[in-house]
Amino acid sequence: MEPNPERGNSSWIDEIPDRLAAIEGAHLLRRRRVVQPAGGAHLLVDGQPLLAFCSNDYLGLASHPALAEAARQATHRYGLGSGGSPLVSGHSAANDALEHELAAFVQLPRALYFYAGYATNTGIIPALVGKGDALFSDALNHACLIDGARLSRATIVRYPHADLAALGAALAANPARRKLVISDAVFSMDGDLIDIPALLALCERHDALLLLDDAHGFGVLGPQGRGSLAQAGLTGAAAARRVLYMATLGKAAGVAGAFVAGDATLIEWLLQGTRSYIFATAAPPLLASALRQSLRLMAAADDRRAQLDALIAQLREGLAALPQHLGWRLLPSQTPVQALVVGRSEDALALMDGLRARGLWVPAIRPPTVPAGTARLRIALSAAHTAHDVQQLLDALHAAASDPAL
Ligand SMILES: *Cc1c(COP(=O)(O)O)cnc(C)c1O
Repeated sequence: MEPNPERGNSSWIDEIPDRLAAIEGAHLLRRRRVVQPAGGAHLLVDGQPLLAFCSNDYLGLASHPALAEAARQATHRYGLGSGGSPLVSGHSAANDALEHELAAFVQLPRALYFYAGYATNTGIIPALVGKGDALFSDALNHACLIDGARLSRATIVRYPHADLAALGAALAANPARRKLVISDAVFSMDGDLIDIPALLALCERHDALLLLDDAHGFGVLGPQGRGSLAQAGLTGAAAARRVLYMATLGKAAGVAGAFVAGDATLIEWLLQGTRSYIFATAAPPLLASALRQSLRLMAAADDRRAQLDALIAQLREGLAALPQHLGWRLLPSQTPVQALVVGRSEDALALMDGLRARGLWVPAIRPPTVPAGTARLRIALSAAHTAHDVQQLLDALHAAASDPAL
């Protein structure tokens, strides 16, 4: 192509290699690993066998044979693709049945099933609020809540993490008629659980609606894994008036997708107005069928949750015994997400590399995913781990802590 003389020789498209090189130069280039399951919590990662502490498959259900069998039978019956968006022809009998079972599982009046959690939050927030409305967002919220907030064009008030006094003051000071509070229930990089009854009481006082993202609590917390809202005793029609409960189905449920549940009229409103729902092909029925099986397994998985609790206690006890001189800090968390804050990005990376050399895969999470100076190992536990697995991780961390290179 002839260069445009008015623009000179440089097109912005030709600058992309340099921009990529700049990311690489700043040690921020991300690389995907090619992963294959290798039994239990073990993975083959780029061909190397590793004991992994990075999966969100908290109950170890992703490889359960009953889920694979449900998907196989559904494929035989329904074929593969749903063939359409849900409001046209894509809402299969399997997806419909799943929605009813999801609502029953979380004990809320109605549920809407989506193909992904990211699409759920980026879609439902703009369906609820818009220009002139106000959104209140915890500083550590997941990226898709933030992106949904931005898409909505409502005014965003970001409050310090879990600071309900600051949230209360912001709600009181804001004149908008429509107020929406959005929050993770269990925070994905810290593992802590927000005080849901207190959050809901604030919403009640200021006539705000609460959208709670329970991606990391669903299946793990509450009686029979019914989630953090059920754990707080907030179920049924009365609770649903002020809460939209959202959870993902690719973590503890072991499959893929997400749902939002709550008051039947609110859900109908979302069905009518969520663009990421209306203008996208519905999830394949084989996934809904696997998920229906997963709900049954989750409800009966008290043994897996007890195993998880035991592993959490074992890990925390072992980490508390680490030498103090390095300044490593274990964040408070009773969930499978355990964050060991190291501080500097280089140190977190060196620690991750040291563990990998010993056959362990624990991801280092760096800014901007977490605040500056709080680079960390994010240790994710699963019922697929054994006590021996956790002991191996503890031994490796104790060895690393006494390594003079750190
Ligand atoms: C994983 C996650 C999502 C996104 O869900 P996907 O189904 O993976 O798109 C949303 N919110 C939180 C808090 C998450 O951890």
